[in-house]
Amino acid sequence: MVRMVDTLIVGGGTAGCVLAARLSEDPAHQVRVLEAGPLWTTPGAIPAELLDPTTMPIGPDSPWLWRYDVALSADPPVAARIVRGRVIGGSGSINGGYFVRATAADFAAWARTLGASSAWSFDAVLPMFRRTERDVDFGDQPWHGCSGPIPVRRTTNPAPISAAFAAACLATGFPEIPDLNAPIGADGVGAVPCNLDENGRIGSALGYLLPALARPNLTVGGESYATRIRFDRSRAIGVDCLCGGRIHTEWADRIVLSAGAIESAALLLRSGIGRPDRLRGLGIPIVYAADVGAGFSDHPEIGIDYLLETGDQATVPVESVLELDDVEIRPYTMSFTPGVRRLGVALMRPDSSGVLRLRSTDPTVAPLIEHRYLAAESDRTRLRAGVAIATELLKRMKAHQIVEPIPARSDLAAAWLRGNLATSQHLSGTCRMGREDDEAAVVDESCRVRGVTGLFIVDLSIAPVPLSRGPQATTMMIAERAAGYLGS
Ligand SMILES: Cc1cc2nc3c(=O)[nH]c(=O)nc-3n(C[C@H](O)[C@H](O)[C@H](O)COP(=O)(O)OP(=O)(O)OC[C@H]3O[C@@H](n4cnc5c(N)ncnc54)[C@H](O)[C@@H]3O)c2cc1C
Repeated sequence: MVRMVDTLIVGGGTAGCVLAARLSEDPAHQVRVLEAGPLWTTPGAIPAELLDPTTMPIGPDSPWLWRYDVALSADPPVAARIVRGRVIGGSGSINGGYFVRATAADFAAWARTLGASSAWSFDAVLPMFRRTERDVDFGDQPWHGCSGPIPVRRTTNPAPISAAFAAACLATGFPEIPDLNAPIGADGVGAVPCNLDENGRIGSALGYLLPALARPNLTVGGESYATRIRFDRSRAIGVDCLCGGRIHTEWADRIVLSAGAIESAALLLRSGIGRPDRLRGLGIPIVYAADVGAGFSDHPEIGIDYLLETGDQATVPVESVLELDDVEIRPYTMSFTPGVRRLGVALMRPDSSGVLRLRSTDPTVAPLIEHRYLAAESDRTRLRAGVAIATELLKRMKAHQIVEPIPARSDLAAAWLRGNLATSQHLSGTCRMGREDDEAAVVDESCRVRGVTGLFIVDLSIAPVPLSRGPQATTMMIAERAAGYLGS
């Protein structure tokens, strides 16, 4: 069947749901969303596991995931499997519910990549952060919203493990940060702002999309996997879509990729936007030469496992964190191994960056993803310092660290870091935003894909700099900001 819409959004995830809800506020604007995973149209139909904020439904049997085998580090190889949400709401439907904004310094760095433009400065994005949230603890403030679709709160009754961690941080001399979303990005320990209410985890599917579904100008196709963008010369005009075992084409005035940092990049590459040498190698006709997939960022995380007898009740997987500029230490309340606890030491602004490439033109073959973590000496140094602090905190907590202490010798320390290396699963920046003269940039400051018309990217792919905090809140802000550019 041929349908014509004004805006076709590929991916009903964290960003896609926000964008669809905002664009369809204009009744004259026809909006359609294609989502590869299942769609539920009422809150009551959503499976309980997707609402339970105390854990993440990412186990081996979870039916709501994309799974990718990746190389976290090459020499020696460290392999891992990462996941993304393949369900309405995307990764926001399966994640940890941590809802902390990127810092003002991150937006200063973002703005610098755009030269004279202030379109993504902190002052420009703050109203968009306010628009997303209904901060239950702080209410209406110059830096907080009180009427947005996403309820944000911090636990007042932390699990014993979170309380023990916070006490150890304070005893070590780190200050308490009452509001981790306040604009001053000071170091210290604080309760994590979380996107949840009494019904559980509230991502952008529940907060934005479902309340908008009654609008006649908004339609959503679930279990609809976009395999390729169609162009008429350099104009994007439609999307091939695999649905119910058959491929059909959906046509639109303009197409927005909100398929996440992995799948938006893969879709661009399969459609002929990428490095010409690589596309030619796969026999893909070139539509436009762009550095898609190069130089992505993600947060390497060192897992320090330990034993400590405490009670178990918790509201979210991470209730409090210690921020140390670009290191974040997370006392997980959930277990990765039964009976064993974990402190995560994450590097938030790594100098090492990764690369994503296509292996095949077959859309069912996952792309090759190399994180290249720890390649930069500076990253190893900062992670070592973070691990040393985490070890001191565990001593104060009277916890028994299971893993060997990190060796003092730098070559042995590097091997130790690789041995305990994991990822925060915050991959960003595969289709970076940048100035016209920036050869690495894939989109301009209005999220428009360079070199073609009618094609935009609105998700975490576009972040041009590493983000010093988890990316969920910033991804929703990106979509709020982009709605201003894409609104009719
Ligand atoms: C396990 C896990 C836990 C996390 N925890 C946190 C946390 O607590 N706090 C935090 O800040 N961040 C967290 N993150 C990261 C954060 O959730 C993501 O970075 C963010 O949600 C990304 O948003 P997005 O819109 O870019 O992509 P997504 O939310 O992943 O949305 C992409 C959507 O597009 C769909 N899609 C993809 N390809 C296609 C296609 N070809 N056709 C149609 N649809 C398609 C997908 O199914 C998905 O619904 C976590 C991530 C993971 C994986």
